[in-house]
Amino acid sequence: MTQNRNESPSYQLYDRALESLVGGVNSPVRADPQPTPAFVDYGDGGDIVDVDGDRYRDYIMGYGPLLLGHDLPDPVREAISETVADGPMYGIPTEIEVELAEFVIEHVESVERLRFVNSGTEATAAAIRLARGYTGRDKIVVMQGGYHGGHESVLVEGNLGDRGPSSAGIPETFAEETIPVPFNDDEALQEVFDRHGPDIAAVVTEPLLGNCGIVLPVEGYHETIRELCDEYGSLFILDEVITGFRVGGLQCAQGKYGIEPDLTTFAKIIGGGFPVGAIGGRAELMQEFTPMGDVFESGTFNGHPVTMAAGLETLRFAKDHDVYSHVNDLGKQLRAGLQDIVEEHAPEYTVAGTDSMFKLLFTREAPETFDGHCQAGCVQDPDCPRFDLCPKTGADVEAGETDRWKRTFWPAMADRGVLLTPNQLESQFVSYAHTEDDIDRTLDAYQDVLSTRDR
Ligand SMILES: *Cc1c(COP(=O)(O)O)cnc(C)c1O
Repeated sequence: MTQNRNESPSYQLYDRALESLVGGVNSPVRADPQPTPAFVDYGDGGDIVDVDGDRYRDYIMGYGPLLLGHDLPDPVREAISETVADGPMYGIPTEIEVELAEFVIEHVESVERLRFVNSGTEATAAAIRLARGYTGRDKIVVMQGGYHGGHESVLVEGNLGDRGPSSAGIPETFAEETIPVPFNDDEALQEVFDRHGPDIAAVVTEPLLGNCGIVLPVEGYHETIRELCDEYGSLFILDEVITGFRVGGLQCAQGKYGIEPDLTTFAKIIGGGFPVGAIGGRAELMQEFTPMGDVFESGTFNGHPVTMAAGLETLRFAKDHDVYSHVNDLGKQLRAGLQDIVEEHAPEYTVAGTDSMFKLLFTREAPETFDGHCQAGCVQDPDCPRFDLCPKTGADVEAGETDRWKRTFWPAMADRGVLLTPNQLESQFVSYAHTEDDIDRTLDAYQDVLSTRDR
């Protein structure tokens, strides 16, 4: 903390930004930090340093793209600089697009063809259009609390009986075609198919909810989606924008959980820190995209050479080094340490996450015993004494102490040099640049804050 807050460079920049950028930021979550956002000066390994000179252990990691942390390894940096030096982009094919596509196809079981776009939003919009074009149907099913970016078809909230756009500016008609259901609820999904099955183009879900706390799938849920889609001729679109090349390593979450989607969307990590998105799937489906088929998809920056170079070298680096074992081991150490802390100081809270993702959810009820409790994050084990209490849906996460999380807990952690995502809903990530010492010091901060809180 610097002198008087209103003299700090971050405060001054934010105050100035309010005159030129809407809300002072370019994406709404960036305005969440209390009381005002810090502005970054630079990244350093697993840390960031803000313009006030304060250093934080960073678990935001760009909201997901930065698997390796802030210092790109030499081969990644070199590939980026060499590609930039040749010229930024062409609108004409380059070899590097083919190489990244080949890499993804080699490692992700369900993918035979790819189309690269520029964001996760574009990827899910195109995948949904493809499903509608292929099936000739209009309806899609999404998960309450799921996130697929900011386009009309997925900004819908509510349920089968009562739903509407979740943003102003979206025609009601989009909510007629998009049906949200609670994640992990077989019966709700069955009911939607009973009512609308022959009109459903696709079910769209993340493998785990990664933008509404972290909610893992209960055993069998994705199999239910697969079976209902097969029965009714609908497509299963798996949104791996956040989990792709993070959860399950190179095989992605679909490999880890044995999910068999028809189409997969990627973004975040596959761009190595640059804007990216991708749609992948069976050749027979993917060829519905233009120029082979009739489903229009196009983009000036699609397959951008610099992005492709950054993504490819990041993934190659992850393949050739101990990246996944490193981040997953640290993630486990962090979640296990958090579990010990909450058992003592906040037994009603739930430790969530898997692999290198983690979040402490401020749920409101404690189990009667911790005997047989999940040890390094809730895995939806029916034998865990918390099974009925830990979040299964987005609504369960939102029913937690979200204000306490954001207004008191988050700033207290920031004061101790730990930068978490600024609300209870966004995931947090361990990177390859973090160390065991970082994890120990982070756990000290959690211990400090949770043991001294005012109950
Ligand atoms: C981040 C995210 C998106 C949106 O990606 P953008 O690149 O921000 O448009 C879509 N789906 C999921 C699961 C995400 O985590």
